[in-house]
Amino acid sequence: MMEATKTIKCKLIGLTLRKKEILNREYDSFQHWLETGEDRGVYSAYKQDARWLYKKAKRMKGVPIRKDLIDIQRRDTKIAEYWARIRVKGVRGGVKVALAHQPFNFEEWDVCESLLVRRDGDFYLYVTVKKEVELREEYSSIIAVDIGARWVAVSVARHRSKPKFYGKRVRELRGKYFWLRRKLGRAKKLRAIKEIGHKERRLVNDELHKIAKDIVEEAERHNAIIAIGDLKGIRNKKKGRKANRKVNSMPSHKLKEYIRYKALERGILVVEVPEFNTSKQCSRCGSMRTERPSQGVFICSDCGYQVNADVNGAKNILKRAVGYMLTAGALVTKPEGERFIAHSPTSSIRRMP
Ligand SMILES: [Zn+2]
Repeated sequence: MMEATKTIKCKLIGLTLRKKEILNREYDSFQHWLETGEDRGVYSAYKQDARWLYKKAKRMKGVPIRKDLIDIQRRDTKIAEYWARIRVKGVRGGVKVALAHQPFNFEEWDVCESLLVRRDGDFYLYVTVKKEVELREEYSSIIAVDIGARWVAVSVARHRSKPKFYGKRVRELRGKYFWLRRKLGRAKKLRAIKEIGHKERRLVNDELHKIAKDIVEEAERHNAIIAIGDLKGIRNKKKGRKANRKVNSMPSHKLKEYIRYKALERGILVVEVPEFNTSKQCSRCGSMRTERPSQGVFICSDCGYQVNADVNGAKNILKRAVGYMLTAGALVTKPEGERFIAHSPTSSIRRMP
């Protein structure tokens, strides 16, 4: 059994003025207490948890709410399917808040700790959920995904000869919004720029979810492991939180996370393969004497192989995934055909005790 966890970000909607005021008060009091130590009225459990959970509590962005204090229930009302109860100082029973629609079934998961976040005057509840999943043990194919090059993703697979290209729509969106931003920038419409930024991010995210879904559904259909390149060092501890936050919000990083989540929910293994030189090495003969006459074209000087550069990258990931899993003993090829048995889960999956 594996443990899958994820964070669902729910906007609190339909807040009455009174509820908003109560939440603002609790939020401000909590932040004030973190910064100064002075208690203007903070729900006592929040203080205890903050002390216990974090040493550098001053940097906390939001109010952490522990498992037993959050109460999410399906109520199927007009404004929302799910409601949560948030405890606050001085209001018995707390405030009941509606969660914006989520294509998500809270009933199927264990709700763990949450974080109450305020952004641009709106409130969000980041709910961490957990579920035990049965990971498949035998696979009949591998899909290799090269993420974040010229295309958002390119995939190749053992069960098909043609590569798949993902991200046309993302590119169109980015082009469109790039020009829009420039136009607004000339007109010095800063607020509008911020707003279209939000909209762009939302639309791009939707596309990333679709791409991840397509990849994972294909893996499910063909009973395939998913191999993704792992850019080691991109998340750099020395660079600090700010740089890492930037990495976290990059489409390539997000897509990877979405693929992981969706695969894990279906019990499909995702392995990460070192991406070192995948763009320089020839995927046909292994030579490093290669060139890129233009960004999208890859040519091998040794065997003459000419191919789309991203496809070459994906093919290298596929090759390495097979090699890596054979040497790690994670994958066993049976003589009677291609049947793989996976034993070792990746870092994204934790083995249950
Ligand atoms: Zn070659």
